[in-house]
Amino acid sequence: MNNLEKIRLDFPILSQKIQNNPFIYFDSAATALMPQEVLDGIVAYYGSYKANVDRGLYDYAEKTTKMYEHTRSLVAHFIHALPEEIIFTSGTTDGINKIARMWAIHNLCAGDEIIVSSIEHHANFLPWQQLAQEKSLILTIIPVDQDGFLDMKFFYAALSEKTKLVAIVHTSNILGTTFDIESIVLAAHQVGAKVLLDAAQSIAHQKLNVQQMGIDFLVFSGHKLYGPTGVGCLFIKKTLHNECFPSVFGGSMVYSAGYEESFWKNAPYCFEAGTPPIAQVIGLGHAIEYVQKNINFDELAIHEKTLVAQAVIGLQNLGFTIVSSQYSSHVVTFYDQQIHAHDIAMYLNSYGIAVRAGNHCVQPYHEKIGVDATVRLSFSVYNTVQEVAYFLQVMAEL
Ligand code: PMP
Repeated sequence: MNNLEKIRLDFPILSQKIQNNPFIYFDSAATALMPQEVLDGIVAYYGSYKANVDRGLYDYAEKTTKMYEHTRSLVAHFIHALPEEIIFTSGTTDGINKIARMWAIHNLCAGDEIIVSSIEHHANFLPWQQLAQEKSLILTIIPVDQDGFLDMKFFYAALSEKTKLVAIVHTSNILGTTFDIESIVLAAHQVGAKVLLDAAQSIAHQKLNVQQMGIDFLVFSGHKLYGPTGVGCLFIKKTLHNECFPSVFGGSMVYSAGYEESFWKNAPYCFEAGTPPIAQVIGLGHAIEYVQKNINFDELAIHEKTLVAQAVIGLQNLGFTIVSSQYSSHVVTFYDQQIHAHDIAMYLNSYGIAVRAGNHCVQPYHEKIGVDATVRLSFSVYNTVQEVAYFLQVMAEL
């Protein structure tokens, strides 16, 4: 048994049946499955030491706070940041909205420009569209080239001293391409713009190094990294902390509160008002430890590329139209001219195969290519060539 075959056994959900068929999960871009040790870590918190963070002087409260802060250090180490640069959020969407309300709203004026790509997930598009409307900002949308990468000609041409933020996806959830972030950051910084990276899809598939990439803000969700839902991380470069203001106010975020005036704690605590998602943060910590112990990202990339190629060739031979890029890391998006994507997904479900159908929260791009819904397969560490072969066999009988 090789390393990847062993890893598969760690995910209890995969031993279940769907409609009497073995369960095949091709929807990890929506949410990744959880290994047993992450589930055990969450149950241990609820079952044996549950307390609130930062408030109690008894053993369990101290243990809870220690575990919560331990995750912060793990995340920081995982993406090469400092612990105080990591703010816990409820997910990628929350993190992007927080940057809009904690930083952009205070630092951008009418006429300033935000740049996004044409393939952003709604999470990294709607907050900027909304803010642009509220503050009369210019929102510029850069197209992708034929291979699904950011069209750098258009990007370089758009940059000016008016550009204040480039909010960009790292790996696309529909095309599967990974943008060249270092070149994007270099050019953006030359005009004084900040860069926010939506790492929702890249965090579980490659090593991320915020220092090497030089980015200013980064967001991801714990549930795409084998962790629980309800938790995410927002990285804010330390040198930008003094440009950010809390957007949520309440318990735990102040040193002292008075009837006239209150004084906030330093980052990250001033950005984490109220009781945080403690079990989820602890679960995320277990997920990162699981990844560090078991997953080799170079090996994973080769494995996922193999599955992508196998699925693309098979689907093309069957006459389906592929939307994802030939350079896709872990997603295959396709459609059929006659059969609606939802019907394909329901047909696959009757064989125990879970896929996603729709616009995958990238509706403007679907409108651009003139297709209202596509089917998306997304692979992870536990998928196998046998599963893809079975999927193709089922698709041949559609
Ligand atoms: N951005 C991208 C690229 C995504 O794939 C997703 C999740 N589908 C999100 C943002 C939003 O993540 P969440 O729903 O966890 O906030």
